Amino acid sequence: MATPFDCQLFVIGGGSGGVRAARIAANLGARVIIAENFRYGGTCVIRGCVPKKLLVYASHYAQEFADAAGFGWSVPPATFSWPKLIAAKDAEISKLSAMYEKNLLNSGVQVLQGAARVVDAHTVEVNGQPWRAEHILVATGGTPFLPALPGIEHAITSNEVFNLPTQPKRVLIVGGGYIAVEFAGIFHGLGSAVTLAYRGEQILRGFDDDLRAHLHDEMAQKGVRILLHTDVTGIEKQSDGSLQVGLRIGSDGAPTQAGFDAVLYATGRVPQTTDLGLAEAGVALDKTGGVIVDAYGHSNVPSIHAVGDVTNRIALTPVAIREGAALAQTLFGTAPTAADLTTVPSAVFSQPQIGTVGLTEEEALQQVAQIDIYRANFRALGRGLAGGKERTLVKLIVDSASQRVLGAHMVGDDAAEIIQSLAVAIRMGATKADFDATVALHPTSAEEFVTLKEKTTRTRQV
Ligand code: NDP
Repeated sequence: MATPFDCQLFVIGGGSGGVRAARIAANLGARVIIAENFRYGGTCVIRGCVPKKLLVYASHYAQEFADAAGFGWSVPPATFSWPKLIAAKDAEISKLSAMYEKNLLNSGVQVLQGAARVVDAHTVEVNGQPWRAEHILVATGGTPFLPALPGIEHAITSNEVFNLPTQPKRVLIVGGGYIAVEFAGIFHGLGSAVTLAYRGEQILRGFDDDLRAHLHDEMAQKGVRILLHTDVTGIEKQSDGSLQVGLRIGSDGAPTQAGFDAVLYATGRVPQTTDLGLAEAGVALDKTGGVIVDAYGHSNVPSIHAVGDVTNRIALTPVAIREGAALAQTLFGTAPTAADLTTVPSAVFSQPQIGTVGLTEEEALQQVAQIDIYRANFRALGRGLAGGKERTLVKLIVDSASQRVLGAHMVGDDAAEIIQSLAVAIRMGATKADFDATVALHPTSAEEFVTLKEKTTRTRQV
């Protein structure tokens, strides 16, 4: 029987969440069309996690060359070419983007290039052509948020930073979140003079306080200038192309001016729903423009769904992927499926790196009456020979009553790799005794997690 629809699922946005939903839906037998207005792969692949990690790798070399002398190597003075790095990164990203598109085609998804707009609950228009869809999935991700202030048009965001024609020698980074601290490490490692200006009292609000303080100290010790309680009042472009920035520094707010070659704003991201026609189609949006959805990704319009950053929940690629997969299962599988997001580990590819899973000390105290806190702060093996001062922090938060480990946190080499594995144990409900019973793997930093002895206890104040 003829159907009034061109497809069962029309996906708007070829990023992590949209591509996963499209492929799984197609594998479940649905007829699927996807549209992307930029490049397949989305923020993560094109101008997010993947190119960022490549730049992080590049920025480590300066330290490695310096450390090599402590191990007997003589390294001739090293030089670095920003254009070469960007070209190599672009080639890798193009390969990955093409792979995303190929995987979609291999799954039988019809792939369109162009900006899509929702016309009504069952119609999407791309390049002037209407497509009738039984279901529409909005997976358009997010876009950098820039506060209004004089001269903000001279600032760049994470959209532009990956393709700067030249490396800025003096960089001001505004913000104290993931992107700000990651790019502070990248530019510092590549040899730029980096100033990070954050409006609050400590970087990385929302992370465990010990991690925040430890990372701050390590970054500052490496030479990143961190200005807390600092606001930007305006940016002026000078005739030589440099930027004069007005700053109010510190809790007394003393005004001052400083010159930079680039100002990177990393002040959060907002859902990308402008010009999508969602409000006109009756879709409820939150105050940031995010699509309001239930645990299954359904909006208030029964045929329109959303996953990933556009829903303004947890803005992480693996979460979007889970949500996309769950939505495809719900629509075309055998049972409604909600993404299980009970234990979401997270990493910040700062220098040193952060890995974290579960509750922070403060969050744990909101949930249980008493916690045991275990910490180790040490210099990792090899750092001594290299003459480095960098210290590693590992920390476990344990519910005193049940002895269940509620959170594991680390700042130091390979923190992300280590915490990913610990996330399995924590998700399974491991206790401190389980950690203690696990034989250490020596010599590693990770073994500290199974040899922690010194504890402090905190009780919830009522
Ligand atoms: P974050 O939300 O992490 O941080 C935003 C920062 O900007 C905060 O320090 C915030 O301060 C500050 N800020 C917000 N508004 C203003 C303002 N008007 N003026 C001055 N400062 C302001 O956002 P990012 O942009 O760093 O990253 C966006 C998201 O992308 C992250 O939240 C994360 O979900 C994802 N991401 C994940 C990565 C990873 O997994 N490694 C890497 C990069 C991004 P305050 O704390 O005071 O609100």
